[in-house]
Amino acid sequence: MRNKNGDRPSAIVVGGGPAGLTAAITLAVAGLATALVGKRPAHPDNRTTALFAGSVTALETLGVWELCAAHASPLKIMRIVDDTGRLWRAPEVKFDADEIDLDAFGYNIENRHLIAALEQRAGALANLRMTDDEVRSVTPGDEAVTLTLKSGGKLSAPLVIAADGRRSLCREAAGIAVNERDYKQAALTVCLTHTRPHRDTSTEFHTPSGPFTLVPLPGLRSSLVWVLDPAQADIIKDLNDAELAAEIERASHSILGKIKVEAGRGVFPLSVATAKRFGDKRIALVGEAAHVIPPIGAQGLNLGLRDAAGIGELAIAAHRDGGDLGGGDVLDAYEKMRRADVGTRTLAIDLLNRTLLTDFLPVQSLRGLGLYMIDRIGPLRRAVMREGVAPAAAQPRLMRGEAL
Ligand SMILES: Cc1cc2nc3c(=O)[nH]c(=O)nc-3n(C[C@H](O)[C@H](O)[C@H](O)COP(=O)(O)OP(=O)(O)OC[C@H]3O[C@@H](n4cnc5c(N)ncnc54)[C@H](O)[C@@H]3O)c2cc1C
Repeated sequence: MRNKNGDRPSAIVVGGGPAGLTAAITLAVAGLATALVGKRPAHPDNRTTALFAGSVTALETLGVWELCAAHASPLKIMRIVDDTGRLWRAPEVKFDADEIDLDAFGYNIENRHLIAALEQRAGALANLRMTDDEVRSVTPGDEAVTLTLKSGGKLSAPLVIAADGRRSLCREAAGIAVNERDYKQAALTVCLTHTRPHRDTSTEFHTPSGPFTLVPLPGLRSSLVWVLDPAQADIIKDLNDAELAAEIERASHSILGKIKVEAGRGVFPLSVATAKRFGDKRIALVGEAAHVIPPIGAQGLNLGLRDAAGIGELAIAAHRDGGDLGGGDVLDAYEKMRRADVGTRTLAIDLLNRTLLTDFLPVQSLRGLGLYMIDRIGPLRRAVMREGVAPAAAQPRLMRGEAL
């Protein structure tokens, strides 16, 4: 199977979600013959993604952002409100992008618009071949990995980028194990229209079942991620529109006025998972194939885009040096580049979530104290804001706006 310009691929990306599309565009923009094989997801994705500044810069550099920017809303203020009703409650913490000299922490966009823009950009690249198909088997070899597709076709390349999501077939073929734990929580997602302006502010109410987060969309619209006990999520999901709107208005203390829910609801069981290695046997893992974290603090896809940019940077450099794109040197460098970023964020989000769920008073008070210190100590608050938006450690070059 060849690319549009007739070349055999230097790399194949498996999975046409946002991480896979970004990895494929990164390679193809730099001139590498690239193939992407992706099957359509079973359900439409009604979620939104808060993309931080580095992710937006990378998408600008790849020529994607201009195709979807009109659908995105800036995130200028982020509030955390303790709504646990517990004895030891944390103070409200407000992060303002102004404090760290940014116009906005990032932008919130519906996944359907982000994916449409990525697909449009990918479709315009002559050396990127996109195939709507399912990978049925993955066979690593000494020189290349061979994929067998549902349609019966075969494809091989020295590097496979696995962006095939949390149940990654490619990861299994590479023999990479995962540290995984299910939470007894599910996230209900829905988009809303409302009568009061959101003022570019995202508000995260911390409740005993998990966060209830309102994130701005353009105009008088917002998205909601409501983390609940799974049984409760199922009940709330099945409410009619008027009942659901009333529940949301109550839980949000009417900060956005009268609510109307839009069509399309999703329920996502939550878990945390990290692959023990991010690459082996010529297969590099990106996005949720490499790590899954709960939707708190909007970190998941921001990490996934840094993975895509990171493996892209290393593979492009190897290609230009006449090296082996999927060889041990590239995969070891990728592991080194990504481990700390993924590890620290997974740990922080996991801890924050667990301290929210605990009934153990000393832990609740410690959490309250932590948030109190963040609220009161300016340099600490600014450090938390900077780290939340971008890792202190070196970021992939695309996140700094450098073309590869
Ligand atoms: C409620 C919720 C809210 C979130 N909000 C945010 C946020 O605000 N900010 C943020 O950064 N992150 C957020 N995230 C995380 C973010 O949604 C994920 O990190 C992101 O969707 C993962 O993208 P991906 O491309 O890695 O995987 P997916 O989107 O799962 O894509 C995988 C793709 O691979 C395809 N595939 C699978 N197997 C095969 C195969 N064998 N052959 C071919 N194709 C295959 C699938 O069909 C799919 O299209 C949120 C997550 C949840 C649950």
